Amino acid sequence: MSPRIALGLVHHPVVDRQGATVATNVTNYDIHDIARACQVFGVTNYYIITPMKEQLSFVARVLEHWNIGYGSKFNPMRRTALAPVKTVESVEAAILDWDPNTCVVGTSAREVSIDKTIGFNELKVKLNKEGQQTYLLLFGTGFGLHESVIERCQLVLEPIRGRMPKDYRHLSVRSAVSICLDRLLGTW
Ligand code: SAM
Repeated sequence: MSPRIALGLVHHPVVDRQGATVATNVTNYDIHDIARACQVFGVTNYYIITPMKEQLSFVARVLEHWNIGYGSKFNPMRRTALAPVKTVESVEAAILDWDPNTCVVGTSAREVSIDKTIGFNELKVKLNKEGQQTYLLLFGTGFGLHESVIERCQLVLEPIRGRMPKDYRHLSVRSAVSICLDRLLGTW
């Protein structure tokens, strides 16, 4: 049975280095690498979230190339890897497409919204417990999720902490996704 968790990669609203609200471009690496991680852990829905029409067209072209175009013949394995990928224009659209009653879980390298923070083990227990509750795990781009997205979340997953004493945490979103999915869904 597929895990009751979907993944969203938010390209707007996110913040830039100065904390301004921006929209980031979708990158090829994020499409492929995160889709593969979703496949490894059985996540069936990977939402690429952007309101920008040209970015939505870019993702559609990438998917077309690997699903029906030259890529589908050149490397059929990649077609499988991209199966979870869906594009939506907003977090709300992802929620409606996945499950209007889903529990939205944010992520950040920083401690945000302490009162909504949930640990990896606690969320793993919830995911493994029988029941109907689903979860949508949101990752940011740029310098992280905008505060309005964090406010929309019912929960915020604890950060992946760095090794002391530096506690360096600035992972690429691709690395952060893989670590989070392995901690929540991995069997090791
Ligand atoms: N300073 C940003 C922050 O606080 O999230 C880092 C942005 S990082 C380039 C893009 C995304 O990867 C973040 O929005 C978050 O979803 C995820 N991410 C990166 N490092 C993380 C960490 N140490 N713990 C949890 N998520 C992380």
